[in-house]
Amino acid sequence: MSTLRLTREVFEAIRAHGEQTYPHECCGALLGQSSAVGATIRAAVKASNTRTDSAHNRYQISPVELVKIEREARKQGLSIAGFYHSHPDHPAQWSQTDLAEAHWLGCSYIITAVAQGKAAVTNSFFLAGETEETKHFQQESIEVID
Ligand SMILES: [Zn+2]
Repeated sequence: MSTLRLTREVFEAIRAHGEQTYPHECCGALLGQSSAVGATIRAAVKASNTRTDSAHNRYQISPVELVKIEREARKQGLSIAGFYHSHPDHPAQWSQTDLAEAHWLGCSYIITAVAQGKAAVTNSFFLAGETEETKHFQQESIEVID
């Protein structure tokens, strides 16, 4: 199992964002440095959920916002190393939709459960595989750095 390292600040920010948008899903990007032993996340960037049709169980970051996030990351010497979203009143496990809509191979996807407005379990899944056809999620452990 690989390990995703993130600062305490990032960890708390992701969980707080999930509480803020409850009962809708929150989403955002994770900026950091990737390495062979797993990524280290230095910043989380909030994005607006463009899925207004089904915001309680879907999320989507607009391509325009993604470009902005990427530019901002580069300025800080970081790159997009993953994404996060919340599951309001739903376990912190990936869904078939999450897998279908995940395209960043080699990136981490954090899911935080929010139970009745309170942040609960937070899990991370690494998008492994070489192509869209072989991509799959592998659970990874989260290490919070103080
Ligand atoms: Zn999901």
